[in-house]
Amino acid sequence: MDGPPGGSTPVTPVIKAGWLDKNPPQGSYIYQKRWVKLDTDHLRYFDSNKDAYSKRFISVACISHVAAIGDQKFEVITNNRTFAFRAESDVERKEWMQALQQAMAEQRARARLSSAYLLGVPGSEQPDRAGSLELRGFKNKLYVAVVGDKVQLYKNLEEYHLGIGITFIDMSVGNVKEVDRRSFDLTTPYRIFSFSADSELEKEQWLEAMQGAIAEALSTSEVAERIWAAAPNRFCADCGAPQPDWASINLCVVICKRCAGEHRGLGAGVSKVRSLKMDRKVWTETLIELFLQLGNGTGNRFWAANVPPSEALQPSSSPSTRRCHLEAKYREGKYRRYHPLFGNQEELDKALCAAVTTTDLAETQALLGCGAGINCFSGDPEAPTPLALAEQAGQTLQMEFLRNNRTTEVPRLDSMKPLEKHYSVVLPTVSHSGFLYKTASAGKLLQDRRAREEFSRRWCVLGDGVLSYFENERAVTPNGEIRASEIVCLAVPPPDTHGFEHTFEVYTEGERLYLFGLESAEQAHEWVKCIAKAFVPPLAEDLLARDFERLGRLPYKAGLSLQRAQEGWFSLSGSELRAVFPDGPCEEPLQLRKLQELSIQGDSENQVLVLVERRRTLYIQGERRLDFMGWLGAIQKAAASMGDTLSEQQLGDSDIPVIVYRCVDYITQCGLTSEGIYRKCGQTSKTQRLLESLRQDARSVHLKEGEQHVDDVSSALKRFLRDLPDGLFTRAQRLTWLEASEIEDEEEKVSRYRELLVRLPPVNRATVKALISHLYCVQCFSDTNQMNVHNLAIVFGPTLFQTDGQDYKAGRVVEDLINHYVVVFSVDEEELRKQREEITAIVKMRVAGTASGTQHAGDFICTVYLEEKKAETEQHVKIPASMTAEELTLEILDRRNVGIREKDYWTCFEVNEREEAERPLHFAEKVLPILHGLGTDSHLVVKKHQAMEAMLLYLASRVGDTKHGMMKFREDRSLLGLGLPSGGFHDRYFILNSSCLRLYKEVRSQRPWSGAPETSHRPEKEWPVKSLKVYLGVKKKLRPPTCWGFTVVHETEKHEKQQWYLCCDTQMELREWFATFLFVQHDGLVWPSEPSRVSRAVPEVRLGSVSLIPLRGSENEMRRSVAAFTADPLSLLRNV
Ligand SMILES: [Zn+2]
Repeated sequence: MDGPPGGSTPVTPVIKAGWLDKNPPQGSYIYQKRWVKLDTDHLRYFDSNKDAYSKRFISVACISHVAAIGDQKFEVITNNRTFAFRAESDVERKEWMQALQQAMAEQRARARLSSAYLLGVPGSEQPDRAGSLELRGFKNKLYVAVVGDKVQLYKNLEEYHLGIGITFIDMSVGNVKEVDRRSFDLTTPYRIFSFSADSELEKEQWLEAMQGAIAEALSTSEVAERIWAAAPNRFCADCGAPQPDWASINLCVVICKRCAGEHRGLGAGVSKVRSLKMDRKVWTETLIELFLQLGNGTGNRFWAANVPPSEALQPSSSPSTRRCHLEAKYREGKYRRYHPLFGNQEELDKALCAAVTTTDLAETQALLGCGAGINCFSGDPEAPTPLALAEQAGQTLQMEFLRNNRTTEVPRLDSMKPLEKHYSVVLPTVSHSGFLYKTASAGKLLQDRRAREEFSRRWCVLGDGVLSYFENERAVTPNGEIRASEIVCLAVPPPDTHGFEHTFEVYTEGERLYLFGLESAEQAHEWVKCIAKAFVPPLAEDLLARDFERLGRLPYKAGLSLQRAQEGWFSLSGSELRAVFPDGPCEEPLQLRKLQELSIQGDSENQVLVLVERRRTLYIQGERRLDFMGWLGAIQKAAASMGDTLSEQQLGDSDIPVIVYRCVDYITQCGLTSEGIYRKCGQTSKTQRLLESLRQDARSVHLKEGEQHVDDVSSALKRFLRDLPDGLFTRAQRLTWLEASEIEDEEEKVSRYRELLVRLPPVNRATVKALISHLYCVQCFSDTNQMNVHNLAIVFGPTLFQTDGQDYKAGRVVEDLINHYVVVFSVDEEELRKQREEITAIVKMRVAGTASGTQHAGDFICTVYLEEKKAETEQHVKIPASMTAEELTLEILDRRNVGIREKDYWTCFEVNEREEAERPLHFAEKVLPILHGLGTDSHLVVKKHQAMEAMLLYLASRVGDTKHGMMKFREDRSLLGLGLPSGGFHDRYFILNSSCLRLYKEVRSQRPWSGAPETSHRPEKEWPVKSLKVYLGVKKKLRPPTCWGFTVVHETEKHEKQQWYLCCDTQMELREWFATFLFVQHDGLVWPSEPSRVSRAVPEVRLGSVSLIPLRGSENEMRRSVAAFTADPLSLLRNV
């Protein structure tokens, strides 16, 4: 090998090389023979021509003067250091001096082009990283700088500033790897440099910087050279730094590395940053051509038309100056040249549609930068968008430019106030790197275990909002990338789900699922944390404070205003679902195991997950299928019982496990009089099947008489209690209970039980109370079921204490608890009385049912009040599925022996206490579905409908079945049913006809004929009348402007509820509206026509023999009939 090593592929061509004598260091007189090399940037000397790394290098930019001195010697003079060399001949000395002077002149010419010249900075390139490092073999720490594709070594900081160093390492042949916590090796084919940093963190940063230098060294400048062919592209569009090798592909400008960093900070909605050297795949011929046509020249004529000199950038500007300038330039458009059409959207759009069909790219750039709509409608259905127009016109460069700007935000000056910026949230910059094991991405959920062999080791880098994975740590082009902004969900499967112990899943907007694996829990956790930070906006960062199994964003609807889905951020940990809604109040986490309902609605195309917790309902929409399915599975799993202990079960409102509640409720309804209840065993297979389904999802199990035998249910309950790992009384406290049973003094014993009860965990305590209360009921029927307290104690003692039954202590505890039920559990009189009445009602009905043979499966017992809600007016009624409101009303009146007079209009009302509103049920309405939909703050009351007569008269007298007029309107915007409704009441014009209720904002003029004012042609809102439920009354908290209001609830097919409040000026108005609602909703049949009730009624004829309202027959007949008895029905109505 002839040439010096490493010289085979010189990055910068050597201008001159040869042997020279170098003057000795201080204190010596002997000249040393050195191999000296000059290239355009450096003068270096080496011990020999075989060496790859110099002893010294002097930056050409720092040489101020070269002078000849005696004896074939010459001096190279820098700011404060002089190096003397001796050539072998005068000719040679002359050659060296000429070469040096020429290199200096060229260096200055280049520097003058870039403004770096003015600053006197050695070399125009700023280091990517610089600082002190220990290098093995050197006594003192060296000052090391990573600049571009080189690692430079200096004796100290001072020499770094002087531009005089030891050597530099071309990273095209370098590789770095960590050795231990603080040390790492830079290996080259010629030498290994062993560095030590001050800390682990610093080591990481050095490794990262040096890896960057390798990437840069291995990159090709082919694309850059082509793009630099256009002169303005040779300097950064923003700061003027030379040889910019980055670009913003939507702004179409070439920029330097430092500006590129700040461009990234603006977010991809403003600037899409790519490297000219590394992102090779991006640079298609079309894009390169676009940069040659537009590029920095045209770009700056638009974007930088008005930059005040004081705000201009320099290559050396600080990062914060750069950031301010770039924000102003591209996000706010502060310096742009305003297009003459600025502000006129329609004209801008038109101009854009015209421009894209021509070669005038600068016009397109200016129009887009001034607000023309990239997706505006061209007016041509064949080519509806600018992009389609450009395609039609064969303008490929226009198409490329439009495509790259598809998601670019329009700059807006009003975003100056930092707190009110309108642009999309800038995600925090997080960086992390390391090896991860990765499988091929999938388009569906991972059902099976992925074996270890299916994972490939990849070098992964998270930075600048992108997670990139590479073949190895030296690879330059990533195998693939996931943009943080595209991540919609991050999930952490339990350990050992796949071949790697620790895994995590990343879901993207494009419905792909990426699975990553790692050995170390710690590292996996770190990755999950970093990725989460990279894609969760500051708004939702509270969610990052806890560990999670799943985190992401989902479209949701909540509360009563459900017209528009919004995107919320959710995290799932354990059985808690946390949510952060934009602009919403801070939400309490949803306790999934305490949900009252968890169901999926809608068709397979458009699924909605409905979560109902007490007083709030959340709808999660399955817009994106993949991550929605992931959430669905996870939420269903989290809502199920987690384990076998009591508190891990699905819980009801009062902390009683649903499984216990379901069984106890069923036995209460169907098994109280069953002989040997709880003593008899059910069929083993049936019991097991039942228990299994209860354990899986008790909430969805509905026990029905006829389908389950009471003994199967009672056995399932006993089995469940007996198998509780910790037992109902807990392993720790079980003995103290048993001991308490031996206390002789009865009073002392009871107070001991009370004491012990308090010590139980809340769920156990609630369950003990519910169970003993139930057993108390059971023994009340011991005459029929033969299960007195003692018998129950024999069965339940060993079950609850999990003993073999040899010892009666366990039984005695149960016996004591039942006997002293009232004292031990502090049951008050009222509670006890209610309980007894309920039982009596149940039994009475069962006896009656058995006798008449009308017992049906699925009947429901409920409480209905007469006239008002009071303990004395309570009635327990069994509601068969077929029962109508009229039948229920008659049943209650019958039971209470209330006689019905002709115009009493007894009606069943659904009363909602929270909304302070009530709804008279239509006589033909089925009661059971209403009962099922009744909230805890609603109840049923049978009372007289005071307004019915007035309404019937109104209906009979009016013309047509429509109504219109002004009402005061208010919308309920409360979130999740918790938040405060906003807004007040406003006047609106309403039209109600047989199909719709329409709301208009304005009334324009009075139409002379119909008397109906002409409304603006399009209603503001419109609802199908059959899906409305109209309640009389508006809650006072909303401060209704009059006391004649009603609350309208609209339920969509997807069971989403919306709610509004309407107020009338007079009571008569209210009744008229209400009557019309009833009329159109029930096809004219507002009150039963058959004298079914009159037959039982005490006849009282006030108005002669004319039946007041003959509701059968045509409208005309009705009208005639009313006219017959009074000429002016309205005069009569006003007194009602
Ligand atoms: Zn720049």
